[in-house]
Amino acid sequence: MRLNLVVVPVTLMFVPQSATAGSPRHDVTGHELRAHYVVLPAQPAPEETYAAAVLRDFVSLATGTAMPQTTEGDRPPLQGYGIYLGNTRRAAMEGVELSRLPSEEWRHLTCGRDIVLAGGSPRGTAYAVYEFIERHLGGAWLDPWTRYAPRCPERRIPRLDTRGRPAFAIRTLYNPFPSPADDGTLSQSQDFCAFNKVNSGGQARHGGAIVQIPPGGHTFGRFIPIDEFAKSNPEYFSMDAQGERQLTDRNTNNTCYYQFCPSNPNVRRIVVERALEWLRNDRRQAEQTGSEPARILNVTHNDMTDDFCLCPDCRAAIARHAGRQSGLLLEFINKVAEAVGKEFPKVTVVTNAYTFSLEPPSTIKPAANVLVICCNSIGNPEVCRPLAHPTNSASARLLADWGRVAGRMGVWHYLRTYPDHPPGFYMPGTNIRAIHADFSMLKDRGYDHMFAECEDFWAYGNTSHPTTDELQSFSPLRTWLVSKLLDQPYRGLDELLDTFFAGYYGAASEPMRALLNLIEDAQERSAARLIDLERFRHAEHLVDARMQLAANRLLDRAEKAVLDSPSHLSHVRRERMVFDSAFLWTEGILRRQAAKDLAEIKRDDVLRRYRACWQDYIQANYAASVRPAVAAHLAANLAAAEAVTARDTDPFAIVPRVPEADITVDGRLVEAAWRKAARLKLTPQHAFSTAAERHEVLVNCSATRFNLAFDLAVSKSHAPPTLMLCLAKNAGPGRQFTVALTAAKGAVEVQVSALDLEPPTMRKRLPVSGFAPSYSFKSDCVNGRWVGEVSLPFAEFDFPADLRRLYANVYFQTGAPDAPDKASHFVWSIAAKGNRATFIPSAYGTLDLEAPTSE
Ligand SMILES: [Zn+2]
Repeated sequence: MRLNLVVVPVTLMFVPQSATAGSPRHDVTGHELRAHYVVLPAQPAPEETYAAAVLRDFVSLATGTAMPQTTEGDRPPLQGYGIYLGNTRRAAMEGVELSRLPSEEWRHLTCGRDIVLAGGSPRGTAYAVYEFIERHLGGAWLDPWTRYAPRCPERRIPRLDTRGRPAFAIRTLYNPFPSPADDGTLSQSQDFCAFNKVNSGGQARHGGAIVQIPPGGHTFGRFIPIDEFAKSNPEYFSMDAQGERQLTDRNTNNTCYYQFCPSNPNVRRIVVERALEWLRNDRRQAEQTGSEPARILNVTHNDMTDDFCLCPDCRAAIARHAGRQSGLLLEFINKVAEAVGKEFPKVTVVTNAYTFSLEPPSTIKPAANVLVICCNSIGNPEVCRPLAHPTNSASARLLADWGRVAGRMGVWHYLRTYPDHPPGFYMPGTNIRAIHADFSMLKDRGYDHMFAECEDFWAYGNTSHPTTDELQSFSPLRTWLVSKLLDQPYRGLDELLDTFFAGYYGAASEPMRALLNLIEDAQERSAARLIDLERFRHAEHLVDARMQLAANRLLDRAEKAVLDSPSHLSHVRRERMVFDSAFLWTEGILRRQAAKDLAEIKRDDVLRRYRACWQDYIQANYAASVRPAVAAHLAANLAAAEAVTARDTDPFAIVPRVPEADITVDGRLVEAAWRKAARLKLTPQHAFSTAAERHEVLVNCSATRFNLAFDLAVSKSHAPPTLMLCLAKNAGPGRQFTVALTAAKGAVEVQVSALDLEPPTMRKRLPVSGFAPSYSFKSDCVNGRWVGEVSLPFAEFDFPADLRRLYANVYFQTGAPDAPDKASHFVWSIAAKGNRATFIPSAYGTLDLEAPTSE
């Protein structure tokens, strides 16, 4: 795999960006780094040897000279001055007693002309080295394959007397890189994570990692595997709302789609027995190998169920906790923690507040050795805005509520989007500013255990679809930034961005920084909720024609600036792919917005470039063994983009043309027209693979009222459906009038807008007087299905008297991002003539809908 060593020559004298306390200014002119050599202890630990190699690599990158290395003891000292690394006698002589330092604390100390870099065992010394590289060489490790240091042969080191340790105790980055584990890429990712002081998942050379027992997330299935007990003891497993034990595991591994019954005493006994056995084994192994023993017992419930257990005993317990299932969970966890704490008082029992346990109970508190990680549900927070933003008030309230209940808290912070859009449509958008604001706030509030979920396209070779079919703007920057803030949450954003852009984009730094600002400024200006904005609305509310054009020009400039630097060019093109995808899937809307301005962008050129960029991206980022699978996946996405025309990507342009002759006097379509009603090629969609799914929509339209009721089989673990209803009115040749309405999240967040689409003028927003008060939308989750209704009084629309036909597209987007077989997108078109209505079902992709009934 590639390893880009990015060297940028600088001629200016280096001044440390974060001035060290106790370093007088005159010391900046201290002696040159290249007069030094590395001194390891006589018997170095693996992490000391590895850290020395990293230091020498970066010194060579920065100064262009190799730094010699020796060990304390036998050999005569080399000419020059020593950088004493780790547990050296010299460090002890200077009073740096490593055994007294916490495991991740680091220390920098100049002693005469020598330097001591050391820290607590097992990671402190490595952190001392990485910190030294960042502060005094300006170095950075930006993604697994990109290390950077500005070239400065005369680099001088100031006088040092500094110590520090990472701000958050547990620092996890969840699957950030497209790295299959079988070709050494995983090890590069681990090197990257270790350098950036992520402490979940390191090897011996990194000083290991925080050990959790059992590893991974959603661990209920590891304690009570369904394969082991489903037949012999079905009572161990959770009962659903219908009274059935959940004994199937549709995910084919033992971690999803069922829970255990926490009220069953045998379940509790087995969980405690296994926890103790695993912890004892771990402690034995740690004593033998000298590694860190486990600090965390991970008892977290499984994913993808609506409830915990609803057996009579569990229902009674839930009732005791005022209906909160988190109360049932904490009762169970506290009992486990009590049993484990007797033998392992230093082990923390970690559990997740997630899905059904998201809301805290007021009736019970977690025991002192329990830590609750509050997981903001998928789709809940608007990730491009900080938690303190009003739109995220529900997430902020949740954190505050848990803060009142739990003594020790962690956050599972969703930093990626889970958009529910067609495969192959990638939405420009990012959350760099929001992340920067959030981390200092979370530190201020005392959270100590951070889990940053920020995976990108096919992260770690994860091919689950469509969760990871998502190429997000500036994802490499986001991952690096998160690692920096997990270590030091109060660092300035500009200073961090300066480093990243210089290293990652080289001569294209300026236009790429402008591109980031273009996206972030547009997000800040937009009043829309962006995380689940579907494609058509996205082109209206964020990446409109003006922004697409501006991005295109910035990316042209950026590419031109780095044509002779393959690694920088590939980083620029990665961002181009996101914008090109958005263009291909919203072109019709964009051209309607600004046909003349967009004339310079040709669909064929974009398609060609998009295809070529993907080929390069796959080549550069995936192991040979994985490339065919990624390429096949991409081929399908590309074919879909190629199969549609610009017109197909504009929902307002594809109002079905129904000749009046095809409409009967009672408003129904004649049989011939039903057969003619072509599918709308709006978007490719996932196949519906579960026969039991229910998707019913009843539409009832009269002269005065439009009513629509829906019943969608979508788990309430996921986002509620978003409904977009477009009423397009053809009031004569050349004039269309559309009312678009978007509703989501039950009865809230309704947007109503009226668009004047009359070409060639741009759209105008028209007032829709009296509309909102009479309009109603409600939805609720009943027995795992989203049901709801919409009622629109036509009288409230300011329709002109010459109305000839009214069209409505009803577009449902149900949020089931982790379950492709549940993602439903379909369109119903309603053609009304006068006060009579006709319903034309039309669907995307492989979904076939029955002809609906109408009254
Ligand atoms: Zn139960």
